[in-house]
Amino acid sequence: MIVAKFGGTSVADATAIRRTAEIVRGRLDRRPVVVVSALAGTTNALLQAAEQAAAGHLVAALERVEQLRERHLEAITALLDGGAEADELRDEASMMFDELAHLVEALSVLGFATARSMDAVASMGERLSAPICAAAFTRMGIPSVAVDARRVMITSDDFGRAAPRPSEIATASREYLLPIIAAGKVPVVGGYVGATPAGITTTLGRGGSDYSAALFGAALDAEAIEIWTDVDGMLTADQIGRAHV
Ligand code: ASP
Ligand code: MG
Repeated sequence: MIVAKFGGTSVADATAIRRTAEIVRGRLDRRPVVVVSALAGTTNALLQAAEQAAAGHLVAALERVEQLRERHLEAITALLDGGAEADELRDEASMMFDELAHLVEALSVLGFATARSMDAVASMGERLSAPICAAAFTRMGIPSVAVDARRVMITSDDFGRAAPRPSEIATASREYLLPIIAAGKVPVVGGYVGATPAGITTTLGRGGSDYSAALFGAALDAEAIEIWTDVDGMLTADQIGRAHV
């Protein structure tokens, strides 16, 4: 099997997610585990909302949250257009945004943000993108299952830059990812996000999705780890940044 990681621009909106699905479709014979980043710009916006709230600018922070909500719901609608599945995913996403709004309100009451609370907020991007991509892939005929990264990416409690715990990641990856592959489906995991053994949300540090892909690849003894990235303009090759390990 392989690990294929797609960055924020590759999952920026419905069009990009569909393009990514076609790349995944072309690699199904390699039995991919897909690692996704947050929709482009989401992590920045989340961190800005948290900072604004902690600095007392609650209204601006909540506006940012609502912009993110709209953008994610719009992507879901475009990808799944209608049906019970779309409603379910929209509800799930909306609940996460409600939770995010509560978190942001709490930060504004406190007037400060800890590294731990920043991780709770920053993790939302990948916690949303993974189920959105999995549902979109499935809708496009690529049976996929979203896996909460916090079940498999076990880390230290160094919030903001948590250290992975490789043997626990290996055990959890085999437990949660391999059965999905064995069932002929594609596991879709958010990069960047993890959790302590006690289940407290952590992150690996900015840009950490590549690191997640490498860690899952090592944990599962993958044949290859592919880091897919979008580039500006037209290039003469259709595979860019494919890294063999
Ligand atoms: N979404 C995270 C970030 O923007 C992780 C990543 O994209 O690699 O830092
Ligand atoms: Mg990146």
